[in-house]
Amino acid sequence: MENCLFCKFVSGEFKTEKVFENEDFIIIKDIAPKAKNHFLAIPKKHFKLLAEMTQEDSQTLGRILKTIPTLSDVLHLENGYRLVVNQGDDAGQTVPHLHVHILSGQKMEWNPA
Ligand code: AMP
Ligand code: ZN
Repeated sequence: MENCLFCKFVSGEFKTEKVFENEDFIIIKDIAPKAKNHFLAIPKKHFKLLAEMTQEDSQTLGRILKTIPTLSDVLHLENGYRLVVNQGDDAGQTVPHLHVHILSGQKMEWNPA
């Protein structure tokens, strides 16, 4: 997808440190961390919303969710973690390429606002 920041990270057109990569997705550090540790799991295929996923996309996302806990050392997940997927305007989705926020390293409040 043209003009998509995360597609450019995936392709390498924009340089960023990839803390993990496999055939399904990359993981990078969030530039504006909302917790002590804040990573973004970004599928290589561009789509914005869960509602747009094909069957194959949902299998990819399943593999991504299964892989994240295997990266406990790299992502600092040992004491628990939170996954967030912002969808659309009300949730404050700013990058229209589906991504999973991975937050850890501190006690977290639960305040959806
Ligand atoms: P969302 O608001 O759910 O769409 O999440 C987008 C995330 O991308 C935000 O947490 C931003 O801090 C993060 N972000 C924006 N630009 C960059 C960048 N250049 N490198 C890493 N993370 C970024
Ligand atoms: Zn994209």
